[in-house]
Amino acid sequence: VASILIVEDEHRIRELVAKALADRGHDVESVTNAMDGLHAITAQRPDLVILDLGLPDLDGYDLLKMVRAVSDVPVIVATARGDDPQVIRTLDAGADDYIVKPFAIEQLEARVRAVLRRSDADRTPDTIVVGGLRINAAARQVEVDEQPVDLTPKEFELLLYLAQHAGEVISKRKLLAEVWRQPYGGSDKTIDVHLSVLRRKLGESATDPRFLHTVFRVGVKLQAPE
Ligand code: CA
Repeated sequence: VASILIVEDEHRIRELVAKALADRGHDVESVTNAMDGLHAITAQRPDLVILDLGLPDLDGYDLLKMVRAVSDVPVIVATARGDDPQVIRTLDAGADDYIVKPFAIEQLEARVRAVLRRSDADRTPDTIVVGGLRINAAARQVEVDEQPVDLTPKEFELLLYLAQHAGEVISKRKLLAEVWRQPYGGSDKTIDVHLSVLRRKLGESATDPRFLHTVFRVGVKLQAPE
């Protein structure tokens, strides 16, 4: 569920799109001109904007440039002509996707889903906290109980991956594919060695685990201490 703003002057299209997205459970607002659109984007901070390029007061392209100066909200532009140089200009100006009128509402819905998925991924937090373990992904720093832990790049990647999937049992095969980028397998021993060092650095051991729990024959799971 997302808050979606529609900027569209054509009554019929506006109503159709608003109804379809509201039926999908989204929180939909619509405005009929660029200036109201700009106001709504800054005041209401929607999760996504569907922007008609042909608006009565201002070109959608100009509106997009104004929006991009103040917001990185995902924008899908709606246009009458797919080969319009204006479409390319709009994508260059920071639109995330475009759709050509007349469009099937299912196609718009699919684009909305795709753009929202991408923007969710972008919003992955810089810092992941699991119990007393704190990982700053951007700065590549790790602390346990507020004490810095010095990790090699591979140990860091392994810990980060497990923390991003905290509470899930991750198989060694999965770790080889995701962390070591060996999708066709490799040596489990590599993982065992890294896990062993990681445990020591985090102040725990396989027999006395705190964050890293081995699930026999299945894999490993990172979770907050009870
Ligand atoms: Ca229009």
